[in-house]
Amino acid sequence: MAVLCTASAVQKSGSVTRAHASTRKATAVHRRGATASASANRSPAAAPGDGAASVPSRRAALAALVASVASVGAAVNASPAAASVDSLQAGTVRHTDAEWRELLSPEAYSVLRQSGTEARNASPLVKEKRVGTYLCGGCDLPLFPSAAKYESGTGWPSFFDVLPDSVKTEPDNSIAFMPRVAVVCRRCEGHLGHVFKDGPPPTGLRYCMNGVALKFEPQQA
Ligand SMILES: [Zn+2]
Repeated sequence: MAVLCTASAVQKSGSVTRAHASTRKATAVHRRGATASASANRSPAAAPGDGAASVPSRRAALAALVASVASVGAAVNASPAAASVDSLQAGTVRHTDAEWRELLSPEAYSVLRQSGTEARNASPLVKEKRVGTYLCGGCDLPLFPSAAKYESGTGWPSFFDVLPDSVKTEPDNSIAFMPRVAVVCRRCEGHLGHVFKDGPPPTGLRYCMNGVALKFEPQQA
């Protein structure tokens, strides 16, 4: 099983955009942007139509078009309203390589920014059983609920599900003849681990994470 989480030799492309805001501020900006985007996309449907819209079939077609555009806009967060709130980079966290080295421990930097893999059973989070949320170690974005954690026996914190809009996946062919799917933080693009299709129900997925790339936040009593 150990090989399934073997370190990737692929160096992630450096992020050179300087962050303009703290992590928490970035979160707030993103949420405002998403809200503005959603309301802006809904408003055309709610607004009174012109003469053409009085024809039922035209109105239905228009509504379908608006719904379609709203759906795509929400997916890529690229509506004009969102862009006016912030740039199209809203909700992202970027640092230079030098800044990441200052912000992270050497172990976390190796995983998050160089796609490394921690040793099995190296993280205390492997045995963490409290109720709470697992955050990105690079930018504090909530990634996994404790309810989705399970004991995989691999020696790495494992989850069968992930919070919405928290991670991205990308192909990882760094090991010959063993294509894998890498999991990165949606917000800071830090490498977190890999996802495999041998997890438990209901998803059948196993998010094999590096504990050093995560932070655990216990639920407040
Ligand atoms: Zn992150």
